[in-house]
Amino acid sequence: MSSISDNIKNVRKEIDEIAIKAGRNPDDITLLGVTKTVDIDVIEEAIEQGITEVGENKPQELKRKYEAIGDKVKWHQIGTLQTNKVKYIIDKAYLIHSLDRESLAEEINNRAEKLDISVNCLVQVNVSKEESKHGLDLNEVENFMRTCSEKYGNIKILGLMTMAPLNAKKDEIRDVFRKLKKVSTDISNLNIKNIEMRELSMGMSGDFDIAIEEGATIVRIGTSIFGNRNYENKK
Ligand SMILES: *Cc1c(COP(=O)(O)O)cnc(C)c1O
Repeated sequence: MSSISDNIKNVRKEIDEIAIKAGRNPDDITLLGVTKTVDIDVIEEAIEQGITEVGENKPQELKRKYEAIGDKVKWHQIGTLQTNKVKYIIDKAYLIHSLDRESLAEEINNRAEKLDISVNCLVQVNVSKEESKHGLDLNEVENFMRTCSEKYGNIKILGLMTMAPLNAKKDEIRDVFRKLKKVSTDISNLNIKNIEMRELSMGMSGDFDIAIEEGATIVRIGTSIFGNRNYENKK
């Protein structure tokens, strides 16, 4: 059985090799360890082995683990965020990947304003238009950016996030990532105030190679580091 230490080394090595092959600087790609369902002691071990940023998809879990582990890693909220759960993570998440509607922007902004902080967000896009997935349509992204820029001054948008369709062919996955990159470039060229397009969060254990080739700056890796998740035994 491979250890977490080996897994982290192997994934990082793969990321670096793919980046170099694609003519990119490996330092431009953040390995985000996805720790949903992973216990605190195992996360601590991953941190000892070099993981510097972790992603949780449930806000209460992020809060619980943050309270045990603290600031020695950067915490990312990567999963769907209900408006009534913003309070758990507003002052803990370094980056929220799942901003996908105005009501959520409003709630994040209100809470951020009260705390006098600025909150980093990525706008989640549902490129493949799967009904099961959250996120804006590609053609809604520009208007949403303009709205956030005008109305929600305590939100700092740093880029875009997407998930490729499950079980899709490589060509389809590549097409999804390429479309996200294109929108990112287009938005960047508009120079909207408070909107930066420096991060592209795309690619998971099964497709991070394609994502890096297409410009990902954050890859979200769970299974390849921590093994398969067992949802029946763990919460
Ligand atoms: C679980 C999850 C991941 C990681 O998926 P793996 O296939 O285990 O690497 C990435 N992004 C999001 C939003 C997730 O929920």
